[in-house]
Amino acid sequence: MVSLSGHILIVGPCAAESEQQVLETARALQEQVGETEQLIFRAGLWKPRSSPDTFQGVGEQGLAWLRKVQEETGLKVATEVSTPEQAEAALAAGINYLWIGARTAANPIQVQLLADTIRNRAEGVWVKNPVSEDAALWIGNVQRFMHYSPQVWAIHRGCNHHPCWEMAQRMQEHVPEAKLILDPSHMGGTADKVEQLMLQAAHLPYDGYMVETHPHPEAALSDAQQQITPQALRNILQQMATLPQDTTKATLQWYRALMDEVDDRLWDTLAERMQLSRRIGEWKKTQGIAAVQPKRKAEILNRRLRWAEQAGLTAETVQNIWEAIHAESVREQE
Ligand code: PEP
Ligand code: MN
Repeated sequence: MVSLSGHILIVGPCAAESEQQVLETARALQEQVGETEQLIFRAGLWKPRSSPDTFQGVGEQGLAWLRKVQEETGLKVATEVSTPEQAEAALAAGINYLWIGARTAANPIQVQLLADTIRNRAEGVWVKNPVSEDAALWIGNVQRFMHYSPQVWAIHRGCNHHPCWEMAQRMQEHVPEAKLILDPSHMGGTADKVEQLMLQAAHLPYDGYMVETHPHPEAALSDAQQQITPQALRNILQQMATLPQDTTKATLQWYRALMDEVDDRLWDTLAERMQLSRRIGEWKKTQGIAAVQPKRKAEILNRRLRWAEQAGLTAETVQNIWEAIHAESVREQE
């Protein structure tokens, strides 16, 4: 197998579910991708879930399972901590790396409490971006930990299943000393997107990847839809390693990612508009109303032309695009 050449690979299940699942996953990962990649094993013990009726994690009892992973495989291990008590327990158990999750990241007071607790007592602390698109808050959180130790990595997990690449670019620009890790699992939210995102990001200047892996994803107690098997991870890494060399400068690669993301939003919005047009068209038919209403068409265009000036677009650009969209909408309605 060809190697990812020095990238960090943080792998393991969303949550530790049983001692057997934790050890099975760690062994399978070591077998599938351990021969060439530098692995760190991850597993959540205290899971910050939206609903209290879902699996909340096994808590402290899972610390002993992570110790077993260290002993049996020699891998370093990592878990998420949300409170100073959890951080103390994890440190006392000899967990190598601690990370701050996206929900905790929304609260700078909590993050500061964690920074003051952990100080430089872990081998490293990783800070996920908050779920809201707030690069300044993420950068600030990283700096709170850097105050104590230089071993701080920034984990880019996207916002609401969008990449928000710009946040990662800003992190790299403002805190170049923090390693930048991509988490395609939470960024994409589904297994097929994990592969898509890793291939897309292969030419972006990330230092590594955090990927949720489970021996039986369909039976996982949390994030079942986005976990992949160790074998599937191996397949993705093989594809990545055989991608043609790309010597394009990092700045241009970031710009391309930003542009692709804007395009995705643009096309999603256009598709939504066309679907709405079809619904309106069907209703108009039942009412005997014509598809094109000239007065309404003129109103919409005038409103958009007034907006164009504030948006820094010329009237001609707006009019051309609007005519094309309108013509397609009428076709959909008819
Ligand atoms: C996780 O890594 O399992 C997790 C809960 O992630 P996030 O905080 O990014 O949602
Ligand atoms: Mn998860």
